[in-house]
Amino acid sequence: MHPLASKFQEVFGTPPDVIASAPGRVNLIGEHVDFLDGFVLPFAISDATTVAIAKNSSNKIRCASIQKKGAVSTIDCANIAPKSGEAWARYPIGVLWSLGIDTGLDILVDGQVPLGAGLSSSAALECAVATAINELFNLGLTLPELARAAQRAENIYVGMPCGIMDQSVSLMATEGNALLLDTRDLSIEQIPFNIAPLGLELLVIDTQVHHALVDGGYAERRASCEKAIADLDITSLRDISISEFVARKPELDEKTYLRAFHGVTEMQRVLDAVTLLKAGDFVGFGEIVTAAHISLRDYYTVSCPELNLAVDTALKFGALGSRMIGGGFGGSAIALIKAKDSDLIKNEIKSGFMKARFKSPRFFSALPSAGARIIN
Ligand code: ADP
Ligand code: MG
Repeated sequence: MHPLASKFQEVFGTPPDVIASAPGRVNLIGEHVDFLDGFVLPFAISDATTVAIAKNSSNKIRCASIQKKGAVSTIDCANIAPKSGEAWARYPIGVLWSLGIDTGLDILVDGQVPLGAGLSSSAALECAVATAINELFNLGLTLPELARAAQRAENIYVGMPCGIMDQSVSLMATEGNALLLDTRDLSIEQIPFNIAPLGLELLVIDTQVHHALVDGGYAERRASCEKAIADLDITSLRDISISEFVARKPELDEKTYLRAFHGVTEMQRVLDAVTLLKAGDFVGFGEIVTAAHISLRDYYTVSCPELNLAVDTALKFGALGSRMIGGGFGGSAIALIKAKDSDLIKNEIKSGFMKARFKSPRFFSALPSAGARIIN
């Protein structure tokens, strides 16, 4: 019996009907372009969230999570509406709402994705539930349909305006590959990123800091990109080449230009990165990852001293490439490193942070893994 099945029996008194899991993710490159119709290149990590679900004969949804000490949170099916239910339980309930399920269910969650580290534990939870429900109710939905449903759960039911990347990769990833996702139409291509046999690994450095700028800073930069689109009278930053954009610089104020410059060049960097990966050129790939950091730091201006120190230290001690990831002003950075350098790099970052009197960072190691699946 799957360990979560026996735990489910303990909590709810019956066996589950279905068990499914879905992974967290890291994004290699393509930062702050998912709202600009851009390309992104994430991969699924091996840490996943598993859910066990059974129909019950009541008109209630009962949710419990091992990470919330197994306490059962209950909501009447009639009360399912955006932002209803206990805060954490809105992620699974939101998926039920999004998929139109309104009959009694018991749900037990066990997540291995660290919460709030920028590895998308939220999408892992949503996608595990979406995968299980698709199976349990024979909905026959495609992976892009499930991704949209999970995103709708997070956007509307939870109230978090995230893009479509996290849910797409959690559902569509395959082992040993990164996922090239076109956020304009959700078309995908699997890109080989089988780094383990090459002695490489992707180190995630969670700075554990969150500077106050987080929300306002994100919205303001997004607004700059939208202003650039309006001022240049184009439909999308996707539709202008770098050379044309640079030639039209006089039409934009300095701040708008610099921020949109990040968007235009980042989309090209993703395509260049894919070309290099297809050629097996991990050194060239690493250089592009670092170029993305410089652009996020100097043009998009969303980095912070902790992220810069993590990136600079990783590069100084042998990383092939390194950059901040996510919204910025804190959160995590990634570094593509030789596995043999892992301890050295972690120690150097740790002592650098101590010297600078920064909070102590957390480290995770990530390898490209498979997407969501039914376990039984
Ligand atoms: P991230 O997605 O980067 O980990 P978020 O803030 O988007 O961070 O999502 C984290 C939230 O998702 C948690 O605060 C919790 O509400 C919910 N969550 C994720 N995994 C679990 C879990 N295993 N058990 C309970 N809640 C979870
Ligand atoms: Mg999240």
